[in-house]
Amino acid sequence: MKSLLVLIGAALASFAVVAVFADNAASEEQGAKPAATAESAAAEAAPSAAVEEKPARRSRKSMALEPLPPDTDWEKVDWVSRLTPMQFRVTRQAHTEQPFRNEFWNNKKPGEYRCVNCDQLLFTSKTKFESGCGWPSFWLPVTDDVITEHPDYTLNMQRIETRCARCAAHLGHVFNDGPRPTGLRYCINSASLRFVSAKDVKAAKGDASGAIEKAAPVKSR
Ligand SMILES: [Zn+2]
Repeated sequence: MKSLLVLIGAALASFAVVAVFADNAASEEQGAKPAATAESAAAEAAPSAAVEEKPARRSRKSMALEPLPPDTDWEKVDWVSRLTPMQFRVTRQAHTEQPFRNEFWNNKKPGEYRCVNCDQLLFTSKTKFESGCGWPSFWLPVTDDVITEHPDYTLNMQRIETRCARCAAHLGHVFNDGPRPTGLRYCINSASLRFVSAKDVKAAKGDASGAIEKAAPVKSR
């Protein structure tokens, strides 16, 4: 009888160990992917793109955000149908996504960051830096004229809002606590951006002279 009790006890203990292990594995999985929000998952989840690797399927994936022509009347675009709910809330309603739980805050790949609404080139990885704030941060846009600045007194704060100069999409804010040489920190919502890897930029341009290769013009304030 005593040995039977010992056996049952051992079985229960090992079950508990397995249960704890499984629980830890699940939480580690969650912790390893802080950027995988529902919105970013939706933005990434292209219909049937993951199923097939054929070029035809890939072009269907890009059709979801097929860039509109530059001469589009941006005030008449049906943004709700073109954007994910998070992209719409951020770019058209000036909301802010959560820090550390967005797509590009920790993206270290070389490439271009374009406006998710109108596809205007805004930043490159050359001027991205780790600010610790939990949003993608840049010390300079590609040129002065791609972003407009607007005083923002919401949330009882004095900030400078940044918008896309072409389509007026809300991007984020710019602060004066950035690194040299500009001292600026363009704190941008990932939901406002479309990232194009350097490899894809080169492939699209058909050569190796993408904007990323060129030194960004530096202008301090
Ligand atoms: Zn834009």
